[in-house]
Amino acid sequence: MAHIIDGKELSNQVLIEVSSEVERIKEVHGIVPTLAVVLVGEDPASQVYVRNKIKRAEEVGMGSVSHRLDAKSTQKDLNNLIDSLNTDSQIHGILVQLPLPEHLNEDEVIARISPAKDVDGFHPLNVGALAAGRESLVPCTPQGCMIMLRQVHSDLSGKSAVVVGRSNIVGKPMAALLLQENCTVTIAHSRTQDIEAVCRKADIVVAAVGRAKLINSEWVRPGATVIDVGINAIEIDGKRKLMGDVDFDTVAPIADAISPVPGGVGPMTIACLLMNTTRAAERQLS
Ligand code: NAD
Repeated sequence: MAHIIDGKELSNQVLIEVSSEVERIKEVHGIVPTLAVVLVGEDPASQVYVRNKIKRAEEVGMGSVSHRLDAKSTQKDLNNLIDSLNTDSQIHGILVQLPLPEHLNEDEVIARISPAKDVDGFHPLNVGALAAGRESLVPCTPQGCMIMLRQVHSDLSGKSAVVVGRSNIVGKPMAALLLQENCTVTIAHSRTQDIEAVCRKADIVVAAVGRAKLINSEWVRPGATVIDVGINAIEIDGKRKLMGDVDFDTVAPIADAISPVPGGVGPMTIACLLMNTTRAAERQLS
């Protein structure tokens, strides 16, 4: 049976480090690293995500400000809010909760956030810096996956890794980070031919698709490490259950290590968001 990579435990370790960094910044520089979270509309899942982020920020001693805009807010309303957060010296990180209501342009919003405060790491300048292997604010979910992988592998160099999914927020930055660690990286996606065989060759499989139990034991080489990013809400017997992209019951018996859902990548993502906020604060001080 595989080693289960405990995201709750690992994220607590990251949060302890973040908390002591926050204390250090307070003592040395007399400022409180502060995260601003912007939520547009009433999407219930987004409301839960925002609440969790604010709660965790407070737990590590960070400042947090939440801005809620009406679902009918205009692009100009949102742009004006971002402009004011960009110039507010008390705010070190800005996160706009996605997805936005359809009438708003996400790309425009992401590009409007100051790259120095872009704690999601989605701004084109940060995306480019990551692709070029330069220092940048790195997207939180792939960063969390890398911490999990480093817990299992002291050296990732030379390993073959397949990332399933090519989104801008998970798949592509994940591939860039694995490449930085000298992995041989393949990105598989909805058009990949014989995707099971592609995945079966990998030492590391990262699943970021959004299809419950897509990846079963036929896709995974015995002894591989499997990181499951997927979060799929499935109704079973009238109850809502969260499931990953990986069929845990068939893959765990053959894998070397596997992250569960829930309790895997999810908690790591929030911990990395707060780590990015302290990093952003430090850089704005220097
Ligand atoms: P997305 O919809 O933007 O991208 C999904 C990708 O999967 C696409 O690139 C597509 O090509 C690929 N794909 C679709 N069907 C496929 C198939 N049958 N075979 C192979 N590839 C296929 O999704 P996303 O934003 O990258 O998120 C992926 C999953 O990760 C979702 O379940 C999301 O909820 C979850 N997620 C979790 C966290 C977390 O903190 N744990 C963070 C972000 C996203």
